[in-house]
Amino acid sequence: MATLIDGKAVSARIRGEIRDEVAELAKAGKVPGLAVVLVGEDPASKVYVNNKKKACAEVGFRSFEYLLPATTTNEELLSLIDTLNEDPEVDGILVQLPLPKGLDERAVIERINPAKDVDAFHPDNVGRIMTGQYRFLPCTPAGVMELIHETGTEVCGKNCVVVGRSNIVGKPMAMLLLAENGTVTVCHSRTRDLASVCAGADILVVAVGRAKMVTADMVKPGAVVIDVGMDRDENGKLCGDVDFDSVKEVASAITPVPGGVGPMTIAMLMKNTLTAFKLRRGNK
Ligand code: NAP
Repeated sequence: MATLIDGKAVSARIRGEIRDEVAELAKAGKVPGLAVVLVGEDPASKVYVNNKKKACAEVGFRSFEYLLPATTTNEELLSLIDTLNEDPEVDGILVQLPLPKGLDERAVIERINPAKDVDAFHPDNVGRIMTGQYRFLPCTPAGVMELIHETGTEVCGKNCVVVGRSNIVGKPMAMLLLAENGTVTVCHSRTRDLASVCAGADILVVAVGRAKMVTADMVKPGAVVIDVGMDRDENGKLCGDVDFDSVKEVASAITPVPGGVGPMTIAMLMKNTLTAFKLRRGNK
């Protein structure tokens, strides 16, 4: 039976460390600030934005919230980004994705000052991840790495399989595993015989968005299994991409959903905001 990797606990510990550091900064009158921009009324996005605001308050950051109507134009949004780029109190800028139809996600991401791009989605930051010269690591993959480390597993030399190749999870995930000398395979919707590729993994990271698609027969006994998925099962209950109940009998360690990767993403966002603060005005 697998050990449960408690993302909630690891996240709380990291946020506690950040809170202590921010308390010290506050004594010198310095407070890191995160601007969060939400366009439109998507209920899931509203929940994410609220959670980010709460996390900011908890660690002692200032948060600046911009709730814009779905009718916002590209020009209006880009102009807000320009203002935030110039604002000395704003260390990090996060635009909640997806944006409503008609808005140009690429243009918005590329307008954010890379030094304030705490999601690490700007091409400048993506490129830096490729070459190892990064300022920030993308929040979800960075959170996954923390969870893998938490298990005491050495990535070096291990067979690592990442299922999913999105720009925000799968691709950067593969780069981070490679940076730690894992032997990395990236799978996607055209992968042939996914089950046997997964079954070769010592470390299996799944980020697809299909409820319980990874079953016990696809998992090597003793593997570390990280489930990034946030899906709904047949009863509408939150679940992951991994069939937790069967896979936990085979894996050596596994993340639950909820309570695994999700809380880590927010902790890493807080960490990136603190890093952004230090890079821009830590010594001023
Ligand atoms: P995405 O952009 O939709 O990408 C999904 C990936 O899965 C694609 O690369 C796709 O392949 C691949 N895929 C689809 N069907 C497949 C199949 N049958 N076999 C193998 N691969 C398949 O999704 P995402 O943004 O990366 O998110 C993935 C999941 O993680 C979602 O459930 C999302 O909600 C969750 N998520 C969670 C967090 C968190 O903080 N916990 C953060 C981000 C995302 P193609 O490229 O070939 O289409």
